[in-house]
Amino acid sequence: MINFEYARAGDVADAVRQLAGNPAAKFVAGGTNLIDLMKMDVERPSKVIDINRLPLKQVEATPGGGLRIGALVRNTDLAYHPLIEQRYPVLASAIMAGASQQLRNMASTGGNLLQRTRCHYFYDTAMPCNKREPGSGCAAINGHNRMHAILGASEACIATHPSDMCVALAALEAKVRVAGPGGERIIPFADFHRLPGDTPERDTNLSADEIVTAVELPAHGFAVNYSYLKIRDRLSYAFALVSAAAALELDGDTIKKARLALGGVAHKPWRDVAAETALRGQAANREAFTRAADTILRNAKGFEHNAFKIELARRAIVRALSQAAAGTPQSQADKKIR
Ligand SMILES: Cc1cc2nc3c(=O)[nH]c(=O)nc-3n(C[C@H](O)[C@H](O)[C@H](O)COP(=O)(O)OP(=O)(O)OC[C@H]3O[C@@H](n4cnc5c(N)ncnc54)[C@H](O)[C@@H]3O)c2cc1C
Ligand code: SF4
Repeated sequence: MINFEYARAGDVADAVRQLAGNPAAKFVAGGTNLIDLMKMDVERPSKVIDINRLPLKQVEATPGGGLRIGALVRNTDLAYHPLIEQRYPVLASAIMAGASQQLRNMASTGGNLLQRTRCHYFYDTAMPCNKREPGSGCAAINGHNRMHAILGASEACIATHPSDMCVALAALEAKVRVAGPGGERIIPFADFHRLPGDTPERDTNLSADEIVTAVELPAHGFAVNYSYLKIRDRLSYAFALVSAAAALELDGDTIKKARLALGGVAHKPWRDVAAETALRGQAANREAFTRAADTILRNAKGFEHNAFKIELARRAIVRALSQAAAGTPQSQADKKIR
């Protein structure tokens, strides 16, 4: 039995103050990841600060024509929100591809960003893991690494970020609004999650004394030509082997703007601006999409059990971009099940 203190925060300033006073404290929102990690002895917070009463449950319009999503908006509420369904359907699709309905009912926007990797060695305290215990080694590099990274990995860690929602947020160029003792700041989504380098224990650039208060979406939601394609071992309730969020703006058959982000392949949602830039001005066809896939995967490297992911990612990219161009995104059949 590990003892920990439990406290509720009344507002954002109170949450920040309580965290500042205790570096071993953790926020809890939906609890769908933190509580599992505590049960498995991976996370051992001395204090759990419940943020569920904070006023961060709204989806609001921003002056620039975008939307601000409070950090406590539940994944289900976000996916079914009319403005998200109409203006940012790639985000709704990505959320619906994740977890199960029960989990999505609990999971929060902020918690989804900060969920930890699903590398099984990270969860197994009998095994070395640099992310859980810096300097102890990485059991995955020479172990069972089928789910692991093919891009941006390091000698210290080859874990992937497990979120679906974050892949769509990366493609949409969202921003993360955070608050700390020094006030508020905004982190572009591309800079929020980190590559492992030699500090894999740090998943994000959120400081230890900060809270995520919101995610902001720009006005442009790519609502017509988009697709979120998730390839996984089962049709539901499984993390991505590879996923792709594709969004295009077309002028006839010509690509005016392209966004492409991958999940399940790296320590962070993987976006490559060079691949997107190369698509601009091209005809929206298989050749252009294959070239984009080659560009984004040019430095991909597989390990013993996951080299297949490189070809899988190539095919997923071409298919997701083709579906986006045709205006036939993945079936949203899941959405009929509330
Ligand atoms: C069986 C299972 C299957 C799943 N499948 C998928 C899947 O296919 N795709 C997918 O994307 N996800 C999947 N998930 C993960 C799920 O989406 C996450 O667990 C969930 O999004 C986390 O949100 P939460 O609010 O429950 O976070 P919590 O568990 O409450 O918190 C997670 C972390 O975030 C921190 N935190 C929470 N809110 C804030 C905040 N506002 N500011 C700062 N820190 C904060 C907490 O301190 C903690 O470290 C699955 C989970 C399970 C258990
Ligand atoms: S891949 Fe990362 S999370 Fe997994 S065992 Fe290695 S260091 Fe730990």
